Amino acid sequence: MVELLAPGGSPEMVREVMEAGADAVYVGPRGWSRRAAAFELGDEELKECASLVHSYGKKIRVAINTLPHSREIPLLLKKLERFLSWGIDAVILTDVGCIHAVHRAFPELPIHASVGCNMTNAQDYAFFRELGVRQVVADCKLPWEELSAIRRAGLGVEVLIHASTCFTYIGQCWMSSYARQVWHLDAEGKNHFLGSPNRGGLCHRLCLAPWDVSCRHGTAAWGVKLRNEAFFLLEDIPRCLELGVSTLKIQGREYTPALMGAAVRLYRQLIDSCLASPRSFDPAPWYARLEEIKRLRDEQRARRTAELLRESIA
Ligand code: SF4
Repeated sequence: MVELLAPGGSPEMVREVMEAGADAVYVGPRGWSRRAAAFELGDEELKECASLVHSYGKKIRVAINTLPHSREIPLLLKKLERFLSWGIDAVILTDVGCIHAVHRAFPELPIHASVGCNMTNAQDYAFFRELGVRQVVADCKLPWEELSAIRRAGLGVEVLIHASTCFTYIGQCWMSSYARQVWHLDAEGKNHFLGSPNRGGLCHRLCLAPWDVSCRHGTAAWGVKLRNEAFFLLEDIPRCLELGVSTLKIQGREYTPALMGAAVRLYRQLIDSCLASPRSFDPAPWYARLEEIKRLRDEQRARRTAELLRESIA
């Protein structure tokens, strides 16, 4: 049965998405998961969320999708040991060395390869499977035949159904580092590199600023827009189900718990109705229902983007 995975940007959001019918939730420990600290969880909050999610009989995964330095690996393994004692169900990792170290230390812990692994071909899928990965979060640019190839490699496939694209491949963008580079070490010894989501800071969405393109001879183009858009895969959900996709994922730890609850409710009902009668599925009424969620999402995202762009030049 396909799993609906929802974001858990706070304990309130975790509760909201559980009530709304999510099968699983992903959370990020503070400083380790490519989000602003406000949408990541402290260890005590993570423990509280793990017990809440399990009280619903659902699953919790922990996203550790930054790229640690060598001296941070023992710290990460220590953290994971603690998380495992609280019963987390899986971990989402990006860094290849980290995947290797975590699989060696905790062979039973399911490892999901984050979208940031940027896998694009059968050799990648086979390599990550040998490394110990069980499920792949597919890049939204992958065609259907690659999703089938991931399945053929014996891996679970996770598809983003409600998310924003990145101008580049995830984890390959260092644009924010040009605008802001601030380092600090936290009490546990983890290095936070503000200006780089890849190293435990956050993305300032510079791709969404208005760009002018200049060359030696003058300005060639004004107000260039780099592509970074939201997408909502309603019409593709029946095909995902047919293909045997394991997980359909909603992105959005930065939004309000109420908005994410509304999104989960919509996709829960959509998936259930599609499973009940896949042949007669019509996405049109669902797109109509999605309109209000999109409107609120756009508002909240625009506010957040303006804040991030302001911070990047502060
Ligand atoms: S600046 Fe844009 S392209 Fe780069 S990581 Fe952020 S959202 Fe993605």
